[in-house]
Amino acid sequence: MGEKFDAIVVGAGPAGTSCAYTLAKAGVNVLLIERGEYPGSKNVMGGVLYRKMMEDIIPEFYKEAPVERPIVEQRFMMLDKESALTFGYKGLEWDKEPYNNFTVLRAKFDQWFADKAVEQGALLINETVALECIVENNKVIGVRTDRPDGDVYADVVVLADGVNSLLAKQLGFHREFRPDEVALAVMEVLKLDKRVIEDRFNLEGNQGCTIEIFGDATKGILGTAWLYTNKESLNIGVGTMLSGLIKHKLKPHQLLDYVKNHPMIRRYIQGSEQQEYLAHLIPEGGYHSMPKVVGDGVLVVGDAAQMVNAIHREGSNMAMTSGVLAAEAIIRAKERDDFSEKTLDHYRVKLFESFVGEDLKKYKDATHHFEKFPHYFEKYIPMMNKAASQMFTVDGTPKRAKQQKIWREIGTAGQKFKIARDLYQAWKVMK
Ligand SMILES: Cc1cc2nc3c(=O)[nH]c(=O)nc-3n(C[C@H](O)[C@H](O)[C@H](O)COP(=O)(O)OP(=O)(O)OC[C@H]3O[C@@H](n4cnc5c(N)ncnc54)[C@H](O)[C@@H]3O)c2cc1C
Repeated sequence: MGEKFDAIVVGAGPAGTSCAYTLAKAGVNVLLIERGEYPGSKNVMGGVLYRKMMEDIIPEFYKEAPVERPIVEQRFMMLDKESALTFGYKGLEWDKEPYNNFTVLRAKFDQWFADKAVEQGALLINETVALECIVENNKVIGVRTDRPDGDVYADVVVLADGVNSLLAKQLGFHREFRPDEVALAVMEVLKLDKRVIEDRFNLEGNQGCTIEIFGDATKGILGTAWLYTNKESLNIGVGTMLSGLIKHKLKPHQLLDYVKNHPMIRRYIQGSEQQEYLAHLIPEGGYHSMPKVVGDGVLVVGDAAQMVNAIHREGSNMAMTSGVLAAEAIIRAKERDDFSEKTLDHYRVKLFESFVGEDLKKYKDATHHFEKFPHYFEKYIPMMNKAASQMFTVDGTPKRAKQQKIWREIGTAGQKFKIARDLYQAWKVMK
């Protein structure tokens, strides 16, 4: 028989490392298995890391972690072919402790975080693929890896193996996701001089800015593009539902090229040099697509359990909180020497009491609603841009006459009623 641990965690992303860190800190003998050459080497993220959830694990982590820039400004761009309606918030309270969010590069950040788990006593093995769970009498008792003599055993196994989670599929927890439950995202890291970034984005010192871009950036498909500032690079990407790409017969790199060359965007990235090109799936099916998260001797955390809030671009924070809650349920189970589904179910209860469960439930119908009615992106954003253009053009027409013209151009009474109904439906799925 192979080596036995108290716990095995599969996957050293934010979910798995949070879990392994918390377990090791409590004195639990934990093995963290990562298929990449090092943690983060295969991981992709637009780049926003949420300070609060990370600080719940390592207070003041930002003093030593490889974070890029504290985000002081969040902008939103409603894009049409030759216009953009832009709004946002900039606050200098986010430029000092305790900060709000940071941009990060996952290849650096995940590696640093996993090293912290190792410092607490976790055993990390890289370049090792967990092939399947070892199951005996319907209980998970270990993991088969691709190493020679690679079976390892534990009282409990945590599946933190990301959106594809082959292991959760093997257990029957996780089915193959439909194209309307996952987004396909591509992004580039573009090297650019620090001073140029700060001038272009109106930033002082190490301040950071994020821009979320809707509408024409995705050619009307449900999704977003983004442009984030790192210390000496920019992250630019676009992510859309896989079903939309199939329907519109588009390839994600075509969308990214379109965004990079868009007249409202291209000046931001001018003169930059491509450092990396990355592609990844994002689980965006939400609450309705979540698999079973607990079984005998096994827990599922993070993307492996579809924990992404697509409306607010949150995933890493949900991954971390779920990892910590799984660890706490394991510590409790260890005290009782009982790793049955019934005892480990404490994790599921705490998860759905936390912001993770609350937010996934709040937006449970949102993605599917916007997917079903693409005119929010295709029609209403150009309509808003046109109205803004008319109102802001000073041509001697009285403002009331402009308002009346915009109102007439919206269409017939029937069309106005349809818009009012759509807005009400949107409010209902977001409230
Ligand atoms: C393009 C993009 C942009 C995003 N932007 C943001 C953002 O700005 N902010 C945000 O909070 N979230 C964002 N997200 C979501 C966020 O990245 C995820 O929610 C988060 O990474 C989930 O963490 P995780 O640990 O569950 O999974 P992952 O980060 O995917 O980690 C899974 C780990 O498991 C390893 N692994 C997989 N299978 C095996 C196996 N069989 N054996 C061993 N190891 C295995 C992988 O190598 C990986 O290290 C974005 C996602 C994408 C794709």
